[in-house]
Amino acid sequence: MSKFNNIKGLLIDLDGVLYVGDQVIDGATQVINQLHASNMPCRFITNTSTLSLNGLQHKLAKLGFDIPSTEIISAPQAALLYLAKQPELVCRLLLAENVKQDFLRFPQSDQNVTHIVIGDIGDKWTYTLLNELFVNVMQGAKIIAIHKNRFWQTEHGLQMDIGGFISALEYATGHQAMIIGKPSTDFFKVALEDIGLQAHEVMIIGDDIDADVGGGQQAGLQGVLVRTGKYRESYVSQSGVKPDLVMNSIKDLPQVLALNR
Ligand SMILES: [Mg+2]
Repeated sequence: MSKFNNIKGLLIDLDGVLYVGDQVIDGATQVINQLHASNMPCRFITNTSTLSLNGLQHKLAKLGFDIPSTEIISAPQAALLYLAKQPELVCRLLLAENVKQDFLRFPQSDQNVTHIVIGDIGDKWTYTLLNELFVNVMQGAKIIAIHKNRFWQTEHGLQMDIGGFISALEYATGHQAMIIGKPSTDFFKVALEDIGLQAHEVMIIGDDIDADVGGGQQAGLQGVLVRTGKYRESYVSQSGVKPDLVMNSIKDLPQVLALNR
């Protein structure tokens, strides 16, 4: 008997679980086919904010994964699912151009907006823009941040990320932003609502001990760590998070879920 017998659905992280760069994790495509064949509800989750839903699905298809776009929830997609439930919506979008395509259904403006969605806009940040956003928030707009990362590593060295701008707006306005990407509980809530299951019925499978496993457990899910992608034993021992299970790779999943019987 598996201790995961009551699991009715899965959230599967993309990068590091199904592939690393352009390299598919051994056996991953077969596992996904097997999950679909067994009618296990799945959502494929990622914090990636530079690809539209189509772009993501395209990338997956190119790698050999047969995953419909309705099963993909990126951080911008979680923002979109959240916004779709809000009445009387006017958005201001600070997102990569191709990601904006997914938000065309919402009314948009630079003034009198109800929600500001902030993702990656590269070097477009200016005092004028920050001040406009400050005024938007003071007039009642809510900030939805795709993530709140401090910095990231580029080929040219470290680069400042959007977290500092989000913090500046929070400080100046006195209002907290809603952070929609993993490990935010809001992200997992959106995903659970989309999959239509209770937190305790769902397992998250990820390579990030904190963002995937920790964030998922915080939201009430079973957290499973894979030893692929960004997994390092030292990260796990430094983290306060204890996974419900550690698997060598996604290849072990059918056995864990007893799908082979
Ligand atoms: Mg990952």
